Amino acid sequence: MEVTGSCHCGAVQFEARIDPNRVGICHCTDCQTFSGSAFRTSVLVPGEDFRLIKGNPSTYEKTAESGKRRELVFCGRCGTHVYGTTADTKTPRYSVRVGVLAQRQQLRPVAQVWCRSALPWLRDLADVHRVSTQ
Ligand SMILES: [Zn+2]
Ligand SMILES: [Zn+2]
Repeated sequence: MEVTGSCHCGAVQFEARIDPNRVGICHCTDCQTFSGSAFRTSVLVPGEDFRLIKGNPSTYEKTAESGKRRELVFCGRCGTHVYGTTADTKTPRYSVRVGVLAQRQQLRPVAQVWCRSALPWLRDLADVHRVSTQ
Protein backbone atom coordinates (compact mmCIF):
# COMPACT_ATOMS: atom_id res chain seq x y z
CA MET A 1 0.00 0.00 0.00
CA GLU A 2 1.06 3.58 -0.58
CA VAL A 3 1.78 5.60 2.56
CA THR A 4 2.85 9.13 3.34
CA GLY A 5 4.89 10.22 6.31
CA SER A 6 5.73 13.46 8.04
CA CYS A 7 7.56 14.55 11.15
CA HIS A 8 5.63 16.62 13.68
CA CYS A 9 6.71 20.02 12.30
CA GLY A 10 6.35 18.99 8.64
CA ALA A 11 9.95 19.80 7.65
CA VAL A 12 10.60 16.15 6.72
CA GLN A 13 8.13 14.36 4.46
CA PHE A 14 8.29 11.14 2.47
CA GLU A 15 6.28 8.63 0.48
CA ALA A 16 6.68 4.87 0.50
CA ARG A 17 5.15 1.68 -0.79
CA ILE A 18 4.86 -0.76 2.10
CA ASP A 19 3.78 -4.30 2.76
CA PRO A 20 1.44 -4.14 5.79
CA ASN A 21 2.64 -7.62 6.71
CA ARG A 22 6.06 -6.19 7.51
CA VAL A 23 4.96 -4.08 10.45
CA GLY A 24 6.64 -5.10 13.67
CA ILE A 25 7.29 -4.04 17.23
CA CYS A 26 10.80 -3.88 18.66
CA HIS A 27 11.22 -4.10 22.42
CA CYS A 28 15.02 -3.67 22.41
CA THR A 29 16.48 -1.26 24.93
CA ASP A 30 17.75 1.04 22.15
CA CYS A 31 14.22 1.40 20.78
CA GLN A 32 12.96 2.17 24.28
CA THR A 33 15.59 4.90 24.67
CA PHE A 34 15.22 6.40 21.18
CA SER A 35 11.43 6.49 21.37
CA GLY A 36 11.32 7.60 24.99
CA SER A 37 8.58 5.00 25.33
CA ALA A 38 7.99 1.29 25.87
CA PHE A 39 8.73 0.04 22.35
CA ARG A 40 8.99 1.13 18.75
CA THR A 41 6.72 0.12 15.85
CA SER A 42 8.32 0.08 12.39
CA VAL A 43 7.77 -1.25 8.90
CA LEU A 44 10.58 -2.54 6.68
CA VAL A 45 10.73 -0.89 3.27
CA PRO A 46 13.17 -1.70 0.42
CA GLY A 47 15.20 1.33 -0.63
CA GLU A 48 13.54 1.60 -4.05
CA ASP A 49 10.12 1.91 -2.41
CA PHE A 50 11.05 4.86 -0.21
CA ARG A 51 11.16 8.45 -1.44
CA LEU A 52 12.08 11.49 0.61
CA ILE A 53 10.04 14.36 -0.82
CA LYS A 54 10.88 17.18 1.56
CA GLY A 55 13.56 18.09 4.04
CA ASN A 56 17.11 17.31 4.95
CA PRO A 57 16.86 15.13 8.05
CA SER A 58 19.56 14.74 10.67
CA THR A 59 21.27 11.45 11.36
CA TYR A 60 22.78 9.67 14.34
CA GLU A 61 24.92 6.61 13.81
CA LYS A 62 24.96 3.69 16.20
CA THR A 63 26.75 0.35 16.05
CA ALA A 64 24.34 -2.54 16.44
CA GLU A 65 25.07 -5.65 18.51
CA SER A 66 25.84 -7.41 15.21
CA GLY A 67 28.60 -4.85 14.52
CA LYS A 68 26.66 -3.27 11.68
CA ARG A 69 26.41 0.49 11.58
CA ARG A 70 22.87 1.82 11.74
CA GLU A 71 21.94 5.28 10.66
CA LEU A 72 19.05 6.69 12.66
CA VAL A 73 17.30 9.50 10.86
CA PHE A 74 15.24 12.20 12.54
CA CYS A 75 14.01 15.73 12.04
CA GLY A 76 16.66 18.09 13.35
CA ARG A 77 14.03 20.70 14.05
CA CYS A 78 11.26 18.86 15.94
CA GLY A 79 13.17 15.67 16.86
CA THR A 80 10.66 13.21 15.38
CA HIS A 81 12.24 9.87 14.50
CA VAL A 82 11.52 9.07 10.87
CA TYR A 83 13.44 5.90 9.97
CA GLY A 84 16.57 3.84 10.49
CA THR A 85 18.73 2.32 7.77
CA THR A 86 21.95 0.42 7.32
CA ALA A 87 24.79 2.88 6.89
CA ASP A 88 27.16 0.84 4.76
CA THR A 89 25.21 -1.04 2.14
CA LYS A 90 24.45 -0.29 -1.50
CA THR A 91 20.93 -1.65 -1.21
CA PRO A 92 19.50 0.13 1.80
CA ARG A 93 16.38 -0.98 3.57
CA TYR A 94 14.45 1.49 5.61
CA SER A 95 12.88 0.74 8.95
CA VAL A 96 10.19 3.40 8.83
CA ARG A 97 8.60 4.46 12.14
CA VAL A 98 4.90 3.69 11.87
CA GLY A 99 3.94 6.59 14.15
CA VAL A 100 4.93 9.13 11.46
CA LEU A 101 2.68 7.57 8.80
CA ALA A 102 -0.68 9.15 7.98
CA GLN A 103 -2.09 5.61 7.53
CA ARG A 104 -0.91 4.30 10.94
CA GLN A 105 -4.45 3.47 12.14
CA GLN A 106 -4.62 0.80 9.43
CA LEU A 107 -1.30 -0.82 10.29
CA ARG A 108 -1.29 -3.60 12.82
CA PRO A 109 1.97 -5.24 13.90
CA VAL A 110 2.44 -8.85 12.87
CA ALA A 111 5.49 -9.64 15.00
CA GLN A 112 7.42 -8.55 18.09
CA VAL A 113 11.17 -8.87 18.51
CA TRP A 114 13.59 -8.44 21.44
CA CYS A 115 10.83 -9.58 23.78
CA ARG A 116 13.37 -10.44 26.48
CA SER A 117 13.66 -6.72 27.25
CA ALA A 118 9.95 -5.91 26.85
CA LEU A 119 8.59 -3.86 29.74
CA PRO A 120 6.64 -6.26 31.99
CA TRP A 121 3.49 -4.15 32.31
CA LEU A 122 2.77 -4.28 28.56
CA ARG A 123 1.04 -7.65 28.96
CA ASP A 124 -1.54 -6.03 31.24
CA LEU A 125 -2.09 -2.82 29.26
CA ALA A 126 -5.72 -3.71 28.45
CA ASP A 127 -6.47 -3.54 32.18
CA VAL A 128 -5.05 -0.01 32.65
CA HIS A 129 -7.66 2.72 33.21
CA ARG A 130 -8.62 4.34 29.87
CA VAL A 131 -9.72 7.91 29.10
CA SER A 132 -10.70 8.86 25.51
CA THR A 133 -8.86 12.24 25.56
CA GLN A 134 -6.59 13.93 28.06
ZN1 LIG B 1 10.10 18.12 12.11
ZN1 LIG C 1 14.82 -2.07 18.60
